[in-house]
Amino acid sequence: MVVDLFKVKNMTKILGHEEIVSSLEKSVSEKRTAHSYLFSGIAGIGKKLIAIEFACMLNCPSYSFTEHERCGMCVKIRKGNHPDVRVEGPQKGSIRIDRVRQLQGFLKYAPMEAPYRVIIIDDAHLINRAAQNALLKTLEEPPGGSVLVLITDKASSLLPTVRSRLRTVKFAPLERSIIAREITRLKHLGQDEATCVAGLASGSLGRALELLTANTLKFRKDLVEFLSQGNNFGLATLLDLSFRLSSDAQKLIDTIEFGMTWIRDLIILKTGGAISCVVNTDLVDILTTSAQHHSVSGLLSVFNEMATALGLLASDTNINKNLLTDVMFLKIRDRLNDTMG
Ligand SMILES: [Zn+2]
Repeated sequence: MVVDLFKVKNMTKILGHEEIVSSLEKSVSEKRTAHSYLFSGIAGIGKKLIAIEFACMLNCPSYSFTEHERCGMCVKIRKGNHPDVRVEGPQKGSIRIDRVRQLQGFLKYAPMEAPYRVIIIDDAHLINRAAQNALLKTLEEPPGGSVLVLITDKASSLLPTVRSRLRTVKFAPLERSIIAREITRLKHLGQDEATCVAGLASGSLGRALELLTANTLKFRKDLVEFLSQGNNFGLATLLDLSFRLSSDAQKLIDTIEFGMTWIRDLIILKTGGAISCVVNTDLVDILTTSAQHHSVSGLLSVFNEMATALGLLASDTNINKNLLTDVMFLKIRDRLNDTMG
């Protein structure tokens, strides 16, 4: 699971997203804020941290972001102790209608200490359908002095009627250099390791931290070494690997994503791309040798197989993972065998 940046100790509260932050600050100073927002973007990039800063901007008369902010109101908001600001999330995998009604009750009353009552709902795609319909009433007739921020990495799972009533703020993935800098600071990594991990994290700091906490990096190294054997994959080995992966959804997704970084790196090396764009920087020697054995068109075709499998896994939770993985591995094996130079 992608690490929730909100729970990381000593986390820098605002990383990147400069345009979003300054546009939120501007809308507050010009009193042009909306009643309801949708903060949308991949997991682990700081959407919730910025939503909380937004609650500070809305309420604090002298808001300014610094790491050592001492303002009493902002400190209370950031620590989750402010009576007018609530951060909510799913319980047991969903947000139900009774919860939404409680929040609506909270918004009905005037703020106690601050100018605005703010509710931030994380993982808003987990608000179930009935609860989303109940929420519509608040979105259509927002109580004065209230601001609602829904946060999600799956905006398409929200009802169109809900989405259309929210002001959408789209968060882009973080730059590799920003992630590298932050994990160096948090985890005291060397520059090479930080750059490598940041590249593997595909723009998500939470993913980078996840890669560092689990044994995931070692697994990726083993996988790249395995894939770099070229056409020496035994059928039995592949099917056995497929069987083991299909019982662990996260590991399966990791495998495919790492496989895609491997292919992408090979294509970069084959086409003379900049070495700084390579993600698996610690495995350049293996990759360089491996790149000589494949054609770009073959690699692209393997990449497409992986992307298709990843898309199917994301879209259908009831899919037969073992079958999907078997088919993906067999196709990849065929493509690699076909294209060996
Ligand atoms: Zn303040």
